[in-house]
Amino acid sequence: MSIIVEKYGGTSVGSIERINAVAEKVSKSYAAGDQMVIVVSAMSGETNRLLEMAKEINPHLPAREADVLVSTGEQVTIALLCMALIKRGLQARSYTGGQVRIETDTSHGRARIRNIDDSRIRRDLDEGKIIVVAGYQGVDNEGNITTLGRGGSDVSAVALAAALKALECRIYTDVDGVYTADPRIVPEARRMDEVTFEEMLELSSLGAKVLQIRSVEFAGKYKVPLRVLSSFEDGPGTLISYEVKRNMERAVIAGIAHNADEAKLTITGVPDHPGVAHTILGRIAKKGINVDMIIQNVAADKTTDFTFTVPRTDYENAKTLLKKVSTELAARGVTGDNTIAKVSVVGVGMRSHTGVADLMFATLAQEGINIRMISTSEIKVSVIIDDKYTELAVRALHKAFELDQKK
Ligand code: ASP
Ligand code: MG
Repeated sequence: MSIIVEKYGGTSVGSIERINAVAEKVSKSYAAGDQMVIVVSAMSGETNRLLEMAKEINPHLPAREADVLVSTGEQVTIALLCMALIKRGLQARSYTGGQVRIETDTSHGRARIRNIDDSRIRRDLDEGKIIVVAGYQGVDNEGNITTLGRGGSDVSAVALAAALKALECRIYTDVDGVYTADPRIVPEARRMDEVTFEEMLELSSLGAKVLQIRSVEFAGKYKVPLRVLSSFEDGPGTLISYEVKRNMERAVIAGIAHNADEAKLTITGVPDHPGVAHTILGRIAKKGINVDMIIQNVAADKTTDFTFTVPRTDYENAKTLLKKVSTELAARGVTGDNTIAKVSVVGVGMRSHTGVADLMFATLAQEGINIRMISTSEIKVSVIIDDKYTELAVRALHKAFELDQKK
């Protein structure tokens, strides 16, 4: 008998009606003869509601207590789902993260899973029980409740699937799969039947919000077959796979991601000598600010311009810090822009096809969109543009790379 792990997100268990619908789905899968482990999120909006209450009492959010609080959201849904399954004549059992023993480090609010003791779950599965586990939470070695970071139920599901060597980990959500672009922007966007793990990793980190990035990393590490599908309608969803079994006709590009959560900063007239990049970025890193793209120009007059992007929420802090660094380095000054967006084309086909970047740049030029920065990896090309052109760029690229055509 194979083990299947299914994860249902907040909107999928957002009401009594929805919980009953999930119970129906689970009982069908169970009837198909698989052993089932279900991971659920809190009802949609619940984690935020709890955090809002906490902030009203203490805006500093004591980390340990915040985890005790927010973990209750998932405790509600595991119990309700089990009740719905039991009512359908099935044997079901709920477990909190700590009860399973999903062991994590001690970083409250962003804990990492260290080990999963699956003995209790295996025993129950062998007795024919359906197991329902609270996502997003674990326990540290002192017995403190920890949580895994927002959207962390995906990570819980993938980690359980890895520990149990599940045949498949199904992530049920409110979309029916991974799309070639955001369908709200590109009506012709298509659901992909299959996307490679590497592509999914890039798409998630570049702004496609279907799967939490850490869950994708986790899946890759343990090669967990992952499928994203809708809990609202039947369908095959999108399989995240580890080998490319695609026909040669397939488009070179798998999809297009966009992200308007970044800002860029430039320090101009920096003296061109060793250690400067380290001085600048070291100070930014010390503040815990993540840098994404980095460009340093060729020095013309013994000075150079140094540009990089940061999360938009860190823009003001980074700018203030950079002004100080600029004075220390006797640079000319600091400029910045927080109205930019990153648009990326992603596909493993790039490894064997040339001309992807060129087609991307030609397409943007045709639309009169100016490229401010470029970065590439083996399987993606990203550009920074003015954020007001994001939708235009995504639509034009989707068409240029023929992603609207069924391959
Ligand atoms: N309930 C948690 C959150 O909203 C975890 C999850 O939904 O995956 O972040
Ligand atoms: Mg949620």
